[in-house]
Amino acid sequence: MSAVTPVPIGPDRVTTDGEIVVRSPYDGSEVGRVPACRAAEVDRAVAAASAQLAAAAGGTDPLPAHERAAILDRAAALLAERGEHFARIIAAEAAKPLRTARTEAQRAVDTFRFSAAEARTLSGDVVPLDASAAGAGKLGVTLRVPIGVVGAISPFNFPLNLVSHKVAPAIAAGCPVVLKPASQTPLSALALAVLLLDECGLPPGWLSVVTGSGGVVGDSLVTHEGVAMITFTGSPDVGWAIRARAPRKKVSLELGNNTPVIIEGDGDWRGAAAKLKVAGFSHAGQSCISSQRLYVHRSVYDDFVAALVDEVSSLVVGPPLDEATDVSALISGSETERVTGWIAEAVAAGAKVAVGGDVGDDGVLRPTVLTGVTPAMKVCSAEVFGPVVGVAAYDDLDEAIELANDTRYGLQAGIFTARLDSALTAARRLDFGGVVINEVPTWRADQQPYGGVRDSGNTREGPHYAVREMTEVRLVVMQP
Ligand code: NAP
Repeated sequence: MSAVTPVPIGPDRVTTDGEIVVRSPYDGSEVGRVPACRAAEVDRAVAAASAQLAAAAGGTDPLPAHERAAILDRAAALLAERGEHFARIIAAEAAKPLRTARTEAQRAVDTFRFSAAEARTLSGDVVPLDASAAGAGKLGVTLRVPIGVVGAISPFNFPLNLVSHKVAPAIAAGCPVVLKPASQTPLSALALAVLLLDECGLPPGWLSVVTGSGGVVGDSLVTHEGVAMITFTGSPDVGWAIRARAPRKKVSLELGNNTPVIIEGDGDWRGAAAKLKVAGFSHAGQSCISSQRLYVHRSVYDDFVAALVDEVSSLVVGPPLDEATDVSALISGSETERVTGWIAEAVAAGAKVAVGGDVGDDGVLRPTVLTGVTPAMKVCSAEVFGPVVGVAAYDDLDEAIELANDTRYGLQAGIFTARLDSALTAARRLDFGGVVINEVPTWRADQQPYGGVRDSGNTREGPHYAVREMTEVRLVVMQP
């Protein structure tokens, strides 16, 4: 039995009378314990954050932009140095294979670096007031001022980098943060918070962590009067319900997707199959942009399926901390049951299992390719969030675009084609936050604008964009 890791709230390290035991999703072994916080801890954290904000607004700014940038740079440097340490925490609590977890840890370094750049360069505009007769003789400028205390709620699947995408831009923007990490994966977030507070010079109160259930701690944060903005990444139902509960707050939502990929007959379908081996199965498909629906031109359909099955058959399934492992357990047994249920339902409706489809003695669902999937099947219409891709044939690009757009989601989509006109048609007509050409739409760089339309959300992350979401424009008019 491990000791409870206290959470930083204001200047204190806090435990409560309740606790959450964090277990490996792979074998159920205990990974750590964290406090089960409640509304009282959220109140304490928001009060500490508000005090920092008040000090900054009162003219005794304890944390000017150059210091915020230096803190973010120090964090990037320490994360780079300790990538292996963080990767092992991620692998242990999320069952993310170690090699994939290392990539996540490396990406968090970028997220902090780009946020440091934003802290140094964030600025307003000059407004040409004298462009109207009424403004003649006046000077107008805009300032970017922190929106206030940011409440950040994060999911389990990128427990370090998605926390970084909230915390680092908030620091850059000058907003104190109260963070509620996913209950399954609080340890990466806590390790990051301790690094920022104890080693990078972030003053207490600028970042508090409240571990506890979404229904208790998450809800207290969402409805707290002292919180100006909620930045949420997670599932659509939870996200939209949060927005409905907080009509007076800014609520930024990064939600799910059922990512489509179009593979034209003239496209590099072999290269696509090799990339999809990773893009459909990394972290067992538990990525919001995991490639899920593959629409393949009928002229190359059989060859593509054979190539994909070859690739997927070579994936190594095993324990997350094993160097050789490509695919490990889903986040919980109930998720494994849900996904196998969806596979069975698709098969009953006419899909064929080309590879995988079964759960091994280790309880891990094997990487699965389904062929002949149709839009009505859940594996197409909903977000699988498991190691399953579905393939279907199409006859012309219009049909493929229609199939790809036939979704409540709209995060990223992709196309493989050798033709510029097809690529541009797809870029114009695929109704998603991002269209990726000749690369899998599971690809993301941490500085890009990342976010979706429809049920995939209402914002863009990436430090440059998140910092703008976390600041308000204040107009200053000067009459000399
Ligand atoms: P989730 O169940 O929606 O949980 C996300 C977070 O919300 C967790 O911290 C959870 O806390 C909290 N929460 C739950 N109920 C709440 C409530 N009533 N009030 C406030 N907070 C509440 O999502 P997940 O299963 O962790 O993550 C998977 C989903 O995230 C997928 O749909 C995936 O596509 C999406 N995602 C999107 C992006 C993106 O950038 N667009 C990136 C990654 C993941 P507990 O853990 O305590 O329940």
